[in-house]
Amino acid sequence: MENKKEMRKWLDDFKLDHPLVIAGPCSAETEDQVLNIANQLKDTDVSAFRAGIWKPRTKPGMFEGVGSIGLKWLQKVKNETGLLISTEVANSTHVKLALEHDIDILWIGARSTVSPFIVQEIADALKGTEKVVLVKNPVNPDLSLWMGGIERLHSSNIKNLGLIHRGFSTYEKSKYRNIPEWQIPVEVMNRFPDLPMICDPSHISGNRNLIFDVSQTALDLNYDGLMIETHSDPDNAWSDASQQVTPKRLVEIMKDLKMRKITTDEEEYQNNLIDLRAKIDVIDHALLENLGKRMKISDNIGEIKRSNNVAVLQNKRWNEILGKMILEGEKLDLSEEFILKLFKAIHQESINRQEKVINK
Ligand code: PEP
Ligand code: MN
Repeated sequence: MENKKEMRKWLDDFKLDHPLVIAGPCSAETEDQVLNIANQLKDTDVSAFRAGIWKPRTKPGMFEGVGSIGLKWLQKVKNETGLLISTEVANSTHVKLALEHDIDILWIGARSTVSPFIVQEIADALKGTEKVVLVKNPVNPDLSLWMGGIERLHSSNIKNLGLIHRGFSTYEKSKYRNIPEWQIPVEVMNRFPDLPMICDPSHISGNRNLIFDVSQTALDLNYDGLMIETHSDPDNAWSDASQQVTPKRLVEIMKDLKMRKITTDEEEYQNNLIDLRAKIDVIDHALLENLGKRMKISDNIGEIKRSNNVAVLQNKRWNEILGKMILEGEKLDLSEEFILKLFKAIHQESINRQEKVINK
């Protein structure tokens, strides 16, 4: 897929001087609830109203959405408030109904993006549409599956595209409902700088107290927009109660978020930056040289393991290294998570090289 400027034309056409904000409840519950929230969002920086009509729930017996009647309520929102309207579609019937009700922005949910069959079915049903289609990241941290979704839509001649980062599910305990794994969307943005990236801090956080910080991180990383679940009575919401905020709180959040400039021509900033970057370049160079030297020594160890017929993996030694490095890292203000990732990568490379030496 080439990197096409046209993918973000829909967003540029808004001519916003702030990030795009999509807000509204997790689920449409009643006509009153939908219109009440929409009316509170009407004269704010919110551009589009969201509400789930069909809800993918992990366990049966939970609220699964009001179904197509909710689309009529969304149309009322558009007529009464002028907000654009958006909802999740998960099969070709949803697409057909959403298009019939003139939904402006359709998104593919995290549980659908994992299935190429479903994404293809949706892409076929949307073929050639002028509507905006956003693809949420799949629940698992798989960048190619996420991009594959975009490619399927692009191949169906759908031009107004974008991504929603909603975090990745994890078995490990975490303060997040879905861990952000920021490096994944950052890599996507590096590869496809023209594909709009929207953050969904609500599903990342799972907890309304984290929404602000997650949103600020997204803006610091130059995201194009935010999708924030907003409900007039969050605690009594029929789905995702703990992560929703009131319209009033949403407005405060939008006011307090700091928008950073992508860059500036200011001279002092430029000079400082050049200075600091030169220092980083010197250190990066030294890091590489040292890694190269370390790997040569690894090769030598491989040689003596080979002549003594000893196994490549020496768990005891490896655990000693890790333990020592975590402690030393702590003193240097380097997180355990970082040290683990770094040394696992170094150790793996050492093993690969010794395997080669031992089997030559
Ligand atoms: C939602 O947006 O309400 C939703 C179900 O999100 P996700 O697909 O990210 O779980
Ligand atoms: Mn939700």
